[in-house]
Amino acid sequence: MPAPREAAIENRLWSLDEAMPRSDLRALQARRLRETVERAARVPHYRDALLKAGVTPGDIRSPGDVRRLPFTTKEDLRANYPFGMLAVPRSDLARVHCSSGTTGRPTVVGYTAEDLETWANLCARFLVAGGLKPEHMVHVAFGYGLFTGGFGLHYGIEKVGASIVPASSGNTERQIMLIRDFQSDALICTPSYALNIAEVAREGGLDPRQLSLKIGHFGAEPWTEEMRNEIEMQMGLYAFNNYGLSEVMGPGISGECFRRDGMHVQEDHFLVECLDPETLEPVSPGSNGEVVITNLTKQAMPVLRYRTRDICALDDNPCACGRTGIRMGRIFGRTDDMLIIRGVNVFPSQVEEALLKVEGAAPHYMIEVDRPGALDEMTVRVEMKAAQFSDMISQVQALRERIQRAIYGITGLHANVELVKPQTLERFTGKARHVNDKRKDKRRP
Ligand code: ADP
Ligand code: ZN
Repeated sequence: MPAPREAAIENRLWSLDEAMPRSDLRALQARRLRETVERAARVPHYRDALLKAGVTPGDIRSPGDVRRLPFTTKEDLRANYPFGMLAVPRSDLARVHCSSGTTGRPTVVGYTAEDLETWANLCARFLVAGGLKPEHMVHVAFGYGLFTGGFGLHYGIEKVGASIVPASSGNTERQIMLIRDFQSDALICTPSYALNIAEVAREGGLDPRQLSLKIGHFGAEPWTEEMRNEIEMQMGLYAFNNYGLSEVMGPGISGECFRRDGMHVQEDHFLVECLDPETLEPVSPGSNGEVVITNLTKQAMPVLRYRTRDICALDDNPCACGRTGIRMGRIFGRTDDMLIIRGVNVFPSQVEEALLKVEGAAPHYMIEVDRPGALDEMTVRVEMKAAQFSDMISQVQALRERIQRAIYGITGLHANVELVKPQTLERFTGKARHVNDKRKDKRRP
């Protein structure tokens, strides 16, 4: 476990519920879980699944009884497209969002007015935990639309009482002009877009550290501690991690406090399990597993044991901030992103961690996997840093070898490393794409 990286901000709670004693929390979870099962039983899909599992709401007496409930997958949501999973009449919906469709056709989620109120408060909790104050001006560069990032954070910021610049995504030069002219205090976007903003600012002759940004709340895609260091160094702000997914609610499921040593799960609203994705049994405490989430308060579309496919470890040690919610470690990646290369499991985040440890490698990379003959080959294209580019031509070979060794050290795989000129790889305004898998049969060892 790395040493906690505390941010010098005040430790403030948005709601006292964040520090609820664990015994009270467990009693609340038990009650809310039973109510959720009652609500879910109105949905034909769950009525059948609960019948098959032989569970009734009355059987739910403790949070541990969640293990008796059926799982829900993205396929279940797709099969019930668009509104088959609603537990309320369609007329009770206040808003509809969709998942970004990173891994296929989007799935639809609905919210009642009460759900929207809950969601805004949950976003407010992690924003305040990460230093947001009513006097701040917040630049939101998450896309506004069906994606839950933009509107989700928007109403959370509004709850806190801060002012919002709803810039949405795109037109990076204009975003920088607005951040500079409005003297925004906080930035909300994906970590990869934060880097993109820093880079475009420098190209335009503006050192991003001169901007007034003090804090950044980043999420919606996997990122590493190395990436956090890079963003903080380039932008001169404290970067906080927050997690969520639209199928369960959107951002606000968990977020970091000032200690930045894992994201506190808002356990009074979500029951989180960490399971072995193969056996679906709980992993041993502190081990990596798939995050499985059950809504405890969602009215319009509660999901039971939703298989997020996100991999991380849970930490139930008490935190110095006083919040009692267990902490999720960084999301290592999603099971769908896991590459099996020559039988070895590799997550793109491991490659990112490796190459950002090497001086001279920029945080822009693309992993290409192919099987030209009988064996898999992994090629990692990495940009060189602009500052070092001109005087490094003679040292390219040495840099390439250092990156190769770093990747081998973390993944155990020999990768081909191609160094490319600064500014050659694609930049992203939302979720970054780092993998191009050209193999036909990706799972064959
Ligand atoms: P999609 O699954 O189509 O990308 P969403 O927009 O709902 O749909 O994105 C949710 C997903 O984004 C999560 O399941 C997770 O894989 C990723 N994600 C969100 N926040 C984080 C985070 N802080 N760290 C890593 N991954 C994250
Ligand atoms: Zn804490």
